[in-house]
Amino acid sequence: MIVVMNHNASKEQVQSVLKRLDKEGFQVHISEGESRTIIGVIGQNTKEILPKLAIQALPGVEKVVPILQPFKLAGREMKPDDSVFQVGNIVIGANDVQVAAGPCAVESREQILEAAWAAKQSGANILRGGAYKPRTSPYSFQGLEEEGLKLLAEAKEETGLAIITEATDTSNLKIVAEYADIVQIGARNMQNFHLLKEAGKLNKPIMLKRGGNATIEEWLLAAEYIMSSGNNQVILCERGIRTFEVATRNTFDLSCIPLLKHLTHLPVFADPSHGTGNWKLVPAMARAAVAAGADGLMVEIHPCPSEALSDGPQSLTPENFSIMMEDIKKIANVLGRSVGNSSD
Ligand code: PEP
Ligand code: MN
Repeated sequence: MIVVMNHNASKEQVQSVLKRLDKEGFQVHISEGESRTIIGVIGQNTKEILPKLAIQALPGVEKVVPILQPFKLAGREMKPDDSVFQVGNIVIGANDVQVAAGPCAVESREQILEAAWAAKQSGANILRGGAYKPRTSPYSFQGLEEEGLKLLAEAKEETGLAIITEATDTSNLKIVAEYADIVQIGARNMQNFHLLKEAGKLNKPIMLKRGGNATIEEWLLAAEYIMSSGNNQVILCERGIRTFEVATRNTFDLSCIPLLKHLTHLPVFADPSHGTGNWKLVPAMARAAVAAGADGLMVEIHPCPSEALSDGPQSLTPENFSIMMEDIKKIANVLGRSVGNSSD
């Protein structure tokens, strides 16, 4: 249920509603919007109990209504205004398009530094790179693990880029969170509920990638696991789903971007690299994602894609990435947006 306060409700009136709900033992989530405060009352049987408390009779309360969406905290009903997160001086979820770029996996100092400088020079301000890699085959390169995290830290120190990197398990979540500015949870772990709950205890943005066979509702319920454990800073990232089509690695679900912007207040990123699996398709899908309203992109780049230890076929060279960035800047500008602006 949500308690919608009047747009001119005073702080005291909000407090007295909170006090009343607390007395009844309810857990509440407060959303202070631009025009009004909404109090989410989440739990079982709220629908039966709340009407009996006559909350709607308290001063400053406009109405008490059920949340119809199954994803209570992630949905727009609970929080009509967009969620905006600050990562260092980067603002995610506001008007500007943010770009994370880097190799699929951190492979060596030279490789990650070269990729980081290429990302920065073209206007990205987040460096991606996996240190713990969730590979389909146990015989494929599994990542440099902590050594990879240290190399990411070095690249951050040199370039000033923020870091996003993946935690594949609760056993590496803590160390990943020490190095990462944004912790990535990959497609294969989207419904690893234990990992999601642990990520919900961090005070750090979590990028939750869409599972390869997940519906949008399942994805938002996965975000709900993180949020209901205490962390509201969730970024969704579309990375393609598995369909009958095998001409591309995955089917990039472009329409989920405007649909998610309608359903949820959380920022939405798009990853056209995993979404297509083919570097030649990446720039076009990056342009399309920006045009469709994505808050950001995550793109794989490699100094020498043909030598990449993972995902070379979908990685852009620094030159092609630079061309892609120029194009998305033009598209963003037409829509009154910029690429990669920071708060300073
Ligand atoms: C990645 O971003 O490197 C990755 C493994 O992506 P996904 O989880 O979307 O497959
Ligand atoms: Mn990859």
